[in-house]
Amino acid sequence: MTHTVHYGAAKDYSGPEVRQALDEILPPVLTACGGVAGKRILLKPNLLFCRKPDDPAAVHPAVITGVAAALRKAGAAEIVLLENPGAQTVRAVIGRMGIAGTLAAEGVFFDDFSDYRERPLPDACVFRSLKIAREFERFDLVVDLAKAKTHAMMTLTLAVKNLFGLVDSAGRIGWHLAVGSDFKRFADLLLDLYLTVRPRICIIDGIIGMEGNGPGSGTPAERNFLAASDDALALDASVAEKLGVPARKLLLLQQAAKRGLEFSFEDSGAVPPVRPFRLPDPPGMLNAWGVVLPPFCKTTLRNLVGSRPAVRKEICIGCGRCAEVCPPRSLKLSREKKPLFDLNHCIRCYCCQEHCPKGAIITRQQLLTAFLSKLMKLVRR
Ligand code: SF4
Ligand code: SF4
Repeated sequence: MTHTVHYGAAKDYSGPEVRQALDEILPPVLTACGGVAGKRILLKPNLLFCRKPDDPAAVHPAVITGVAAALRKAGAAEIVLLENPGAQTVRAVIGRMGIAGTLAAEGVFFDDFSDYRERPLPDACVFRSLKIAREFERFDLVVDLAKAKTHAMMTLTLAVKNLFGLVDSAGRIGWHLAVGSDFKRFADLLLDLYLTVRPRICIIDGIIGMEGNGPGSGTPAERNFLAASDDALALDASVAEKLGVPARKLLLLQQAAKRGLEFSFEDSGAVPPVRPFRLPDPPGMLNAWGVVLPPFCKTTLRNLVGSRPAVRKEICIGCGRCAEVCPPRSLKLSREKKPLFDLNHCIRCYCCQEHCPKGAIITRQQLLTAFLSKLMKLVRR
């Protein structure tokens, strides 16, 4: 089945620009999902963290309040905003964004996910069960409100990856550890979440996204669009192409295709031109090549040709968050309170980068990879 992906243009995050774009993209999606009148809605925005009100690590506050107001206007009986931010609470993020009063005026309750319990997954899933926030089961409809960002493991984080927020923090660390550098398994996990939660209204904030060192430490990237669909996979496929990543090259969609999950789409509205994001270094180079090696070879090769986490000491504040979230405990703080990496045990999950509140963790190419990249560029000329 082909899903329509609706685009609306917005020059910036001012109220009229955001409202106009939402007025263009939301009505057809509401119609496609049977409307929201009288329904109880779970709003799940990406609120990774918020260092300043317009932090590109999170969905912009103007989009959150704009979507809440549109849902209320369309007759939603109840709207609850739930999320599990990386390093802060939902209340802290919403407070820093300065929208607590606006949400309260729209009657929107907001809090952290808290009801984490093991749950059997549908038959089409790869994993049998998963410990996730069960709150979503109490709602008639889930609204998936994502941000267009780069991601060290998945290349891009869009609507499907946003659902990883339903896994609790300890579970996220455990999954990264279990999956290690097998990013295909991580993509399967995300697809299982998509099949389980089935968000019916999916929106991506691409007015100002994040490129480079995403999803937490990249640079703002203005793309001036909001996009929406009734299907998260189709929305991701369409938006990825506008950000310069062909759908067939996105690992998540490659795994979806292998599992027979469709993501065909047709675009509608103010479709933005293709303007590629600057992508993170590919930490999953060996995975991308489909190379299966014994662990000791893999570690040696990974240390030779893969990318690795590194710290920009001048902006690190020594808070220790990176060490707390490192799944295999391969990152410790030095006496000077700066990260020290044990690269032999580092699984290249980039949780440290995702959670660093200062954007001090970067990905760095190994010398051999940097040399080979330069060589390839010369050969291609
Ligand atoms: S790298 Fe980031 S998370 Fe780690 S100690 Fe420094 S500021 Fe904190
Ligand atoms: S050091 Fe960073 S990239 Fe390596 S395993 Fe720990 S959190 Fe993951």
